[in-house]
Amino acid sequence: MSGPLAPSDAAAVPEAARPEPPVVEVADAREAEVGPFRVHRLLPRRARRTVGAWCFADHLGPVSVPPDQDLVGPHPHTGLQTVTWLLAGELLHRDSLGSEQVIRPGQLNLMTAGRGVAHAEEATGRLSGELHGIQLWVAQPDTTRQGPPDFEHHAELPVVDLEDGAATVLVGTFGDVGSDARRDTAHCGVDIELRGRPVAVALEPSFEHALLVLSGAVRLDGAVVEQDRMAYLGRGRAECGLDPAGGRARVLLIGGVPFDEPIVMWWNFVARTRAEIGDSYRRWTAGDEFFGTVGSRLERVPVRPPPWVEGAGGEPV
Ligand code: MN
Repeated sequence: MSGPLAPSDAAAVPEAARPEPPVVEVADAREAEVGPFRVHRLLPRRARRTVGAWCFADHLGPVSVPPDQDLVGPHPHTGLQTVTWLLAGELLHRDSLGSEQVIRPGQLNLMTAGRGVAHAEEATGRLSGELHGIQLWVAQPDTTRQGPPDFEHHAELPVVDLEDGAATVLVGTFGDVGSDARRDTAHCGVDIELRGRPVAVALEPSFEHALLVLSGAVRLDGAVVEQDRMAYLGRGRAECGLDPAGGRARVLLIGGVPFDEPIVMWWNFVARTRAEIGDSYRRWTAGDEFFGTVGSRLERVPVRPPPWVEGAGGEPV
């Protein structure tokens, strides 16, 4: 899945905008296009640029696809990690490190861009049916964002039984259960499946948290949060009660220590200044070796200049 195809500058969120509970701020996704698909973009929001270091979330599907349906051709990233998580279907990840990895439900693909990487997401040719997933980005801190790119595939992740539900720990910890996935900041991502009765989940009080509803609806603190909505929960919570309002629900819990480095996001790049973004744009457009080569049969994704560059449209591709 690809990047924020509209330009957005992400300012540091002041302390006052990170309220203590019992806040529940519910926000709709907005629709965006990624390759051939319409997706629901839950982050960034105008009023909520980051949750911990999580800075981007696109919910795709569920959608019926033919076996040869590719997602997106080679495109670059800088300064972020992509977290790819499927609920149905499969995809083939290729990147400029030479990685070639099929991902299926229950598995995690985690790509760290650092100073720069390129990747593509292709059909496996074997899938016939439904594709359903989410891709998120985690902003890298200054300490690692200029470092080398990296790719991890986690075929198995820790699962916590919730008695009428289950929690899969993608990154970070959930209670005393932790994922082995690389983490450059203090953050967590947990898939929670609810099968009937309400569950209470323990949260890390030093984190701010949000819930992204991937299917069904959940009731928390009296608010009903439906599919393709994000509920921001503030910081300082030690626990959260989740009631599957329609009987079953699937949510992604994300959280982390508030990310206070002021970031600039444009297209598929997370940086600190427009000059850095401009450099990345020029390198990609020039096709130089900086981002490496992806062994994909798909075409590289082009982009128009950033809006602050003369002749720009800044329009999505
Ligand atoms: Mn991408």
